[in-house]
Amino acid sequence: MINVSKPFLPEMEEYFEYLRGIWKRNWLTNNGPLVNDLELKLKDYLDVQHLLYMTNGTIAIQIAIKALDITGEVITTPFSYVATTSSILWEGCEPVFVDIDRHTLNIDPAKIEAAITERTTGILATHVFGNPCDVEAIAAIAKKHNLKVIYDAAHCFGSKYNGRSVFEFGDVSTTSFHATKLFHTVEGGAVFTTQPAVLKQMAFLRNFGHDVNDTFAAVGINGKNSEFHAAMGLVNLKKIKELLQSRIDQTKHYDAALKSLEVEKPQFIKGAEPNYSYYPIIFKSEEALLKAMKELNDNWIYPRRYFYPSLSTLPFVGKSETPISNDISKRVLCLPMYHTLTFEEIDFVCRILLRAQNS
Ligand SMILES: *Cc1c(COP(=O)(O)O)cnc(C)c1O
Repeated sequence: MINVSKPFLPEMEEYFEYLRGIWKRNWLTNNGPLVNDLELKLKDYLDVQHLLYMTNGTIAIQIAIKALDITGEVITTPFSYVATTSSILWEGCEPVFVDIDRHTLNIDPAKIEAAITERTTGILATHVFGNPCDVEAIAAIAKKHNLKVIYDAAHCFGSKYNGRSVFEFGDVSTTSFHATKLFHTVEGGAVFTTQPAVLKQMAFLRNFGHDVNDTFAAVGINGKNSEFHAAMGLVNLKKIKELLQSRIDQTKHYDAALKSLEVEKPQFIKGAEPNYSYYPIIFKSEEALLKAMKELNDNWIYPRRYFYPSLSTLPFVGKSETPISNDISKRVLCLPMYHTLTFEEIDFVCRILLRAQNS
């Protein structure tokens, strides 16, 4: 069986080494030494100013919304994972969908201004498949209209824009370290900001709103993560270079094997250095996608329809016009991509795709 992804697991012995330390210290959670160490090592590896390790990528988005005092309407992308939209709703805000660019699959900055009203306070956009949004155009719009910007950068571990980590853009960027992501800590996530005051607020919210003197000035939540999760992150971080390289090699292999497949692929903006963590292809029609899926499934290969459906069609959001997202989400498929996927397996997947097309 070949699944769309497979979580990376390190050598058990390496993880056990960290467990021994946890048993010795008897310190399991609440900002322990491994959490601190992971935060420092991530900061160093990613070359970012500040980050906070969190329970998961969804709480990270919610804490970012709260910390930036975002209320009312939030402009967002319909082409993302459901957590991007549900976090907006969970925080009592209203998602306003702006359609995506058909080439990058990211929110189309040219369509944002028309969606701004007096109730708009923020923009929450996703760097889809690790491909950076047009961060400069979005920053200019946000400045002009006094809006906060959050990026859901759950796919962006190792992605760069103009040589800088994609996590450094926006007022806050959030990411996920879920087991299925390129870098993971089983469950986990993080927030990034370059603004010390925002960092302080997010640290406060992560820990029930406890401030230094045990007074509670604002409503917090439990967004902390544990020593056990941090330990997995510390072990996995040692392997990150290999993981990133394997994605590049696999992407090249897919590209070469699928030359004659009639599909489109997302395009990157100038200055983008994506991490190739997914291999999305866009079929000519949903019919062609379903045919390919069936052939693959018949051979025990399980790609995923990332992202389907378009979030603008969810039953709990207001109506909006996002024809491009609605169309692309019906035609996009992510092919299997994980560290142990072999070139032979990729060739097998590709042969079936070509056969489905030509039959
Ligand atoms: C994985 C993912 C999330 C959710 O992260 P969790 O850590 O699973 O909560 C949010 N947004 C996007 C785009 C994702 O891919």
